[in-house]
Amino acid sequence: MNKLLYEIEKGTKEALIKKKIILHLIQNGNNTISELAKTIDMSIPTATKIINDMCEKGSINEYGKLETTGGRHPSLYGLNHDAAYFIGVDIKQFGVNIALINFKGDMIDLSMSVPYELKNSPEALDKLIVIIKEFIDRQTIDKAKVLNIAINISGRVNSESGYSYSIFYFEERPLVDILRERLGYRVTIDNDTRAMTYGEYIAGCVTKEKDIIFVNISWGIAIGIIIDGKVYNGKSGFSGELGHVKSYDNEVLCHCGKKGCLETEVSGLAMHRRLIEKLKEGASSLLSKKFAKNEQIKLSDIVQAVNKEDVLCIDLVEDIGRKLGEHLAGIINIFNPEMVIIGGTLALTGDYIMQPIITSIRKYSLNLVNKDSVITTSKLKDKTGIIGACMISRLRVFEN
Ligand SMILES: [Zn+2]
Repeated sequence: MNKLLYEIEKGTKEALIKKKIILHLIQNGNNTISELAKTIDMSIPTATKIINDMCEKGSINEYGKLETTGGRHPSLYGLNHDAAYFIGVDIKQFGVNIALINFKGDMIDLSMSVPYELKNSPEALDKLIVIIKEFIDRQTIDKAKVLNIAINISGRVNSESGYSYSIFYFEERPLVDILRERLGYRVTIDNDTRAMTYGEYIAGCVTKEKDIIFVNISWGIAIGIIIDGKVYNGKSGFSGELGHVKSYDNEVLCHCGKKGCLETEVSGLAMHRRLIEKLKEGASSLLSKKFAKNEQIKLSDIVQAVNKEDVLCIDLVEDIGRKLGEHLAGIINIFNPEMVIIGGTLALTGDYIMQPIITSIRKYSLNLVNKDSVITTSKLKDKTGIIGACMISRLRVFEN
């Protein structure tokens, strides 16, 4: 068994305390003994003894002194970067992002957009496993130190039971069991939007805010909710499914099986559908050539066209921004968040989507309520999902 896992999973009281210290260092960075003693609710001599033991066993390190204005400069303790490693996998519609981080959370290796097409088929699951295995094979670190692989999956995912219900639900046992068996590592799964929310919270634009709504507008649309610094899951992990709220009297069938879902009008999928309709009608666009040659038009192509000032694509993204803002106005009225983060692929169009969102929110939310909310774009941009996966990969090993 891995040394670090042995140290924290012995089942003793001391092992539990060590786990708590690690979790605190993950969430807060390097810290002093007196702060850590407060966290574990113990005296400074007892905390010192445990921390010295953890340093000796190699899970944490001393990282210099805290700069203070007073006379004493207490030592800072933090995670030992080489004690463990974690893998994150972020599945997109057309491509897989995969990365390795060390115990401190530094990115060691990152592959963006490994060619892949997400289909809900056993073959697509096989291909995903091949991509993960190839990524692990090329790593030069001690592979026994890889403690978890966390995979972001869209749709209904129960991270606690390890079941994915919307995608890769082929057997009557949890998907994580199948993946553990085939990969030979511990595996956890999470809903993609929730993983992005956590990534942005831990490593993105959030500084001190604790009540946050993260909007993932990519191929689909969903929100992640953070309440008082904790990601809100709902009873079975299905919270945040904004995309499947009945919003329109249209005849567009949603992939969830219902009609009139928000996602049928406000999502990358909807934008793609409308673009193809317009191109068929003969509208001109930077993407006309690609369309005429029957080449696949990806969401990233549309984002690129918007950023190159393609008028047709700008019109489409503005329309989506306006409609999204109307719905976010309602969400703001309900949650009164400190921060609303617009993330996902369509957020890469920057002001083109943000301006109509902000205008709609101002127009439709309660004045006094929306004054509290900062509306901003994701700082991690197209890496929100992969950084979120890596951070959750590490978190899952140490949380209770
Ligand atoms: Zn739906």
